[in-house]
Amino acid sequence: MIVIMTPGIGAASAEVEEVVRQAHTYKDIRTDVHEIVGTTRTLTEIYLLGPTATVPTDGFAALPGVERVVRVSERYKVIGRHRGQVEVMGFDYRGITFSQDTFHVFPGLCAVDTPQHVDQMFAAIAEHGLRTSRMGAYKPRTSPYDFQGHGKDCLPYVFELAGKHGVQVVAMEITTARHLDEVRSALRASGEATGVMLQIGTRNAQNFELLKYVGQQQRFPVLFKRGMGITLEESINACEYIASEGNRQIAFCLRGVKSHLGDPHRNLVDFAHVPVVKRLTRMPVCVDPSHSVGGRVEASDGLMDIFHVTAQGIIAGANMVLVDFHPAPAKALCDGPQALTLDELHGFLEDTAIAREAYEKRVARVRASAARAA
Ligand code: PEP
Ligand code: MN
Repeated sequence: MIVIMTPGIGAASAEVEEVVRQAHTYKDIRTDVHEIVGTTRTLTEIYLLGPTATVPTDGFAALPGVERVVRVSERYKVIGRHRGQVEVMGFDYRGITFSQDTFHVFPGLCAVDTPQHVDQMFAAIAEHGLRTSRMGAYKPRTSPYDFQGHGKDCLPYVFELAGKHGVQVVAMEITTARHLDEVRSALRASGEATGVMLQIGTRNAQNFELLKYVGQQQRFPVLFKRGMGITLEESINACEYIASEGNRQIAFCLRGVKSHLGDPHRNLVDFAHVPVVKRLTRMPVCVDPSHSVGGRVEASDGLMDIFHVTAQGIIAGANMVLVDFHPAPAKALCDGPQALTLDELHGFLEDTAIAREAYEKRVARVRASAARAA
């Protein structure tokens, strides 16, 4: 059950305190108070957790400061979009807003190799007015003999160079709790030159201890990549693990699923799930065209498949694009064949802008037609 307060009633108010007090009069009911930052307003929600089926809603609905009470299904209690709950679950990080209404592109290196390449990448990003990027330091690889990433050794120059070019958010995968400690101390040593969005890779989508660990801190937002061989429901439940530990700053990333039905692409592109995730949850949704397609193949119209699937994700409402670039793909130590070059960044961003504009027009059209019908 969620008790939603009227806008303006803060988490520390007497009204919220009274709701919590009454909730605790029911046996085994725990509460969790959370402030939701929406695009239009901020409001406080109180989650009643435990055996709520027999707790009546009326008493809470009548309390001062309560806007409404929503009975939620057992599924996705925190991140879900329950009936009557319209607020998106956005978050602000390093001056940038991430929500189901915003749009950001994260171009960058799949795997950090040299300081020169990181510098060139960030310089290109800054030149195009972007403040978000991706950089892989810890690479989970299929073979133990493949390059595993430079790990903590590269963090000092990655963060310093991000700061130099004004890059505010670097999406970076971590595969174990120790990596989070390394990221934290390298950021501190850099004078907090930038911010990190912690990527949970597809291979760790059900690493519940790691999910809980990133959920127990609220300093870094999390970019969760859907599990490549599990259902969408299982992936969304994995995000609920993060949220239920206290961290609601989560973006959900589609990156294709493992199936030979996707051949000749690396994975079966699953961007038809963008509106599905936006309907079932309140998280911003990201697409990763690079790991979905896996190569620089081009269609007969002259557009690469990576461009096509990116546009498909955006036109369906994606809020973020995570995409592999490299100044010299032939020299990349991981996933070179799917990297776009820095010369292609301008065209890629133009293409994303066209798709985003088309999405906004589609939404405006359906809203206008709904307004006429009302
Ligand atoms: C990545 O983004 O570098 C990556 C390894 O992605 P995924 O976990 O989706 O395979
Ligand atoms: Mn990769």
